[in-house]
Amino acid sequence: MAKLLEGKPLAEKIKEVLKAKVAAFKNAPVLASIQVGENAGAAAYVRSQQKAAENLGIVYQLHQLGADTPESQLVDFILKCNQDPGVNGIIIQMPLPAQIDYKKMSRLITPRKDVEGMHPQNIGKLVFGNAALVPCTAGAVMELLTASGVDLYGKEVVVVGHSEIVGKPLSLLLLEKFATVTVCHIGTSKAGKLQDHVSKAEVLVVAVGKAALIKGEWIKEGAIVIDVGINRVGERIVGDVEFEGAEKKASYITPVPGGVGPLTVTLLMRNVVEAALLPHGDGS
Ligand code: NDP
Repeated sequence: MAKLLEGKPLAEKIKEVLKAKVAAFKNAPVLASIQVGENAGAAAYVRSQQKAAENLGIVYQLHQLGADTPESQLVDFILKCNQDPGVNGIIIQMPLPAQIDYKKMSRLITPRKDVEGMHPQNIGKLVFGNAALVPCTAGAVMELLTASGVDLYGKEVVVVGHSEIVGKPLSLLLLEKFATVTVCHIGTSKAGKLQDHVSKAEVLVVAVGKAALIKGEWIKEGAIVIDVGINRVGERIVGDVEFEGAEKKASYITPVPGGVGPLTVTLLMRNVVEAALLPHGDGS
């Protein structure tokens, strides 16, 4: 039976380090959070960010703009935050209304305040192995793998999902550790090869958003399974991996909820602190 890889205790350890760092600042780091329109999912995420920030002594400035805000107004607002020396980090909450192009907006954020690590310049640094601001969920997966004690060197690692926010940056971080990385996606599934790849994985990371996509019996004996997926099934929140079957075969497995999630928000806060410590941040 697999051991549970829980995110909360790890997040607590990281928070202790962050608290000490924040306490050493002359001015507390400031995160500007921009939300356009209303959405229940986004509101829950905003609340958890707000709570995490307050707990650490980070100032969380929530800017709520109306659902009919024109793109040009958001552009001006982002540029204002870029210029504001009192703002260390900027995050744009998803989803955005249809009139606003997220990719365009996220690229306007000055790279040193890009706490989601999604600006092309920060992604470029990830490619070269010297990123200062790592995308939070990909970073959370790496923290969980470190906690499992696995040596990734030469391991068969399969990542299912190739999104820009999770799968792609994660595969770069895994390559930095000399893992043998296979990235699966919709094309793999359509070619009928998903099970084949998954069953060879010594480390499996799934970030798709489809409940029970990965069957328990596909898991290799002793594999480490990190389930990033969040799916609502009736009243329950489940991941992308059939937990009951998978835990019988894996050596370690993340619960959903309680695995990747608690770490993602903590790593967002770590990026705010890192951003404040970058040259021209206001650290110390
Ligand atoms: P996206 O929808 O952006 O990406 C999903 C990925 O899965 C895409 O690469 C897609 O390929 C691929 N995919 C879709 N269907 C299949 C299939 N049948 N077989 C194989 N691959 C498939 O989602 P995100 O990356 O943003 O998020 C993924 C999941 O992780 C979601 O459930 C999300 O809620 C969760 N999440 C959890 C976080 C946490 O903190 N715990 C943080 C971020 C996300 P293609 O695009 O080619 O169709």
